[in-house]
Amino acid sequence: MLGPQGSGKGTQAAKLVDRFGFRYVASGDVLRAARQSDTELGREVRRYYDAGELVPDDLTIRLILQEMGEDVGGPGVILDGFPRTLPQAVALDRALEARGERVDLALELTAPLDVVKKRLEGRLYCRAANHDYNTYFRPPRRPGVCDVDGSELYRRPDDYPEAIERRLAIWREQNGQLVEHYERAGVLRRVDADRPVEEVARSISALLERMGVAA
Ligand code: AMP
Repeated sequence: MLGPQGSGKGTQAAKLVDRFGFRYVASGDVLRAARQSDTELGREVRRYYDAGELVPDDLTIRLILQEMGEDVGGPGVILDGFPRTLPQAVALDRALEARGERVDLALELTAPLDVVKKRLEGRLYCRAANHDYNTYFRPPRRPGVCDVDGSELYRRPDDYPEAIERRLAIWREQNGQLVEHYERAGVLRRVDADRPVEEVARSISALLERMGVAA
C-alpha cells in the first residue's frame, strides 16, 4: 500500500485482513518493535525514527524481509510503509523474484496533504491495545482515556508537528519514483482516500474482487 502517512493505509489494511485473510506487515510496527530493544540496532532505529527520518535502506530491508519470512503462503501479504524508497522497491522485487513471487498490486491511497496532516496531528492510541482515536474527528469520551479499556491514550513519538512535516516532506520526495516504478510494472492502482473509511474500503474490495481475489 502506498500513500502518505495518515492516508489510512493501516485502517484499510485491517479491513482487508478481515475480509480476505491476507497477512499484514507494517514497516512502522516492525521498526517500532526494533526501536524498543536496548541494543545497538534499537538505538540506531530510534535515532532516525524519533526525528521522523527514514531508517537507512539496508537496515530496513533486512528487518522487513526477515519479518515477511520465506513462505508468504495463503492469499499473500499486504505491505504497509514498505517499500518507501526506490532501492527498497528494487530489493523487494529481487527477494520476491528469487522465490517465484511478485508484487501483484501497488495500491496508492490518495488524499490532500492538509487532510492527512490533520489526521496525524489528532491521532492518539491506547496503551493497552492500540485502539485509535482522533482529537478532531473521533475524540474519546473522556480526554486521554480509552473508551474501550480505560487505558491511557498516547501520541506516537513521531506524530508531533515537526516530525509530521519532515515525514510528509520525505514522502513527497520519494513517492514519485515509487509510483513510477510500479506504473512501469503495470501494477499501480489509485483509490481516493479522502472519503469515509467504509467507502474507501468498498472501493478497494471491489478492485481486489475484479482482480480475482476471493473474499
Ligand atoms: P510509519 O508508521 O509507516 O509512519 O513509520 C514510522 C517511521 O518508521 C518512519 O517515519 C520511519 O522513521 C520509519 N520507517 C517506516 N517504514 C520505513 C521504511 N520503509 N524505510 C525507512 N524507514 C521507515
